[in-house]
Amino acid sequence: MKASMPSLPLLLLLLWGVGSHGFPATTSGAQEQDTELVQKYLENYYNLKSDGKQIPRQRNSSLVAEKLKQMQAFFGLKVTGKVDADTLALMRQPRCGVPDVAPYALGERTLRWEHTHLTYRIENYTPDLSRADVDSAIDRAFQLWSNVSPLTFTRVLEGQADIMISFVRGDHYDNSPFDGPDGILAHAFPPGPNLGGDAHFDEDESWTKDYRNYNLYRVAAHELGHSLGLSHSTDIGALMYPNYMYEDHVQLSQDDINAIQAIYGPSPNPVQPTGPQTPQVCDSNLVFDAISTVRGELMFFKDRFYMRQNPFYPEVELNFISTFWPELPSGLQAAYEFSERDEIRFFKGNQYWAVQGQEMLYGYPKDIYQSFGFPQTVKNIDAAVSDEETGKTYFFVANKYWRYDEYKRSMDAGYPRAIAADFPGIGHKVDAAFQKHGFLYIVHGTTQYQFDLRTQRILSIDRVNSWFHC
Ligand SMILES: [Zn+2]
Ligand SMILES: [Zn+2]
Repeated sequence: MKASMPSLPLLLLLLWGVGSHGFPATTSGAQEQDTELVQKYLENYYNLKSDGKQIPRQRNSSLVAEKLKQMQAFFGLKVTGKVDADTLALMRQPRCGVPDVAPYALGERTLRWEHTHLTYRIENYTPDLSRADVDSAIDRAFQLWSNVSPLTFTRVLEGQADIMISFVRGDHYDNSPFDGPDGILAHAFPPGPNLGGDAHFDEDESWTKDYRNYNLYRVAAHELGHSLGLSHSTDIGALMYPNYMYEDHVQLSQDDINAIQAIYGPSPNPVQPTGPQTPQVCDSNLVFDAISTVRGELMFFKDRFYMRQNPFYPEVELNFISTFWPELPSGLQAAYEFSERDEIRFFKGNQYWAVQGQEMLYGYPKDIYQSFGFPQTVKNIDAAVSDEETGKTYFFVANKYWRYDEYKRSMDAGYPRAIAADFPGIGHKVDAAFQKHGFLYIVHGTTQYQFDLRTQRILSIDRVNSWFHC
């Protein structure tokens, strides 16, 4: 699974051809097994019709190209209709077995339960977990949906329930066979009689209650969305995104809440529940928590997500920070790269974490008082940036800034100083800062100031998301 995830550039080099951010490969370069993967993927999830023996001949057909475009559009990839490295990497990720596009027979019709008090039954158990753990995972998954809708769920121990839950493997006689470990993890049927609403979990997966693959609660929360009539979402922050994404805190996003409420109406709770929203990279009001170079590439941090623009690749990548650094919290407040040691340091509150590439360094988080010499009155850092040329790191805190010497490992004397005094024209507060092409960039709100440290002058002003070529 690691290999299918986006990868960071290797040691100070931009190595294309690694992970999802490789140079696009052409179809002619694709291996035979890739062709088969593409064919199967498009058949399973994009309603590509096959007579079962057209694999080699179909690979350049316009139908395949059309379905590829549909898939690439769904996942926010560059829409080329060709198999490239990013497309293949996404196709290799573990996911739900339910198609991303509705089969033609169903069309746009939304299936829903006509009653709101639903029953469920757990028909059998996986040996991977204790019965109590399975019961708890399923119960909590139902609660996510009942918390935000008029639906209630009652467990029954025998007979027929609206939603029947089971662990099965391989072909289990519903025309949607499972595929062994990884690949398809589970699937569920939309509301209706018989198989309708039922959720099946692939017994060939190992099910867990923690961060290891695959967390049953996380997968069940997704599948039960289908049991209630939801389809897949293109929002990577949504539980209804088709691919398996694990986070410590499983929660419905605003996108999931909107989807369930569009079918069943709002929650009877007088205070309507809300969920986190996924940043829109081209939203002109987008404000970042922190920005840093990471081995030469710019990374933008916002809530649970990072975004990065790669100069050789046209699409902005948006994904969970935990993809690279599972130990980091969300809502980072500052980050900077000390490239001399190939380290990125992330700040939140009075704590910080240090990483080299994807590796979290030992002994973190540490506190900012001992390591940098901040006084206890500093509760958090707004922004940080290290000047590659001098090894001086600038820490912005409210309307002041500190300067730290990375080589002497101590705060320079005479600090803090007023931001307004030494960075004229940028205002009194800094939200994010980074260095790129030898220039300092200082961000306040949606505005970015390109700044020359030596002359203390603003060179240009732009929107911070201008990096995304919106
Ligand atoms: Zn699904
Ligand atoms: Zn099934």
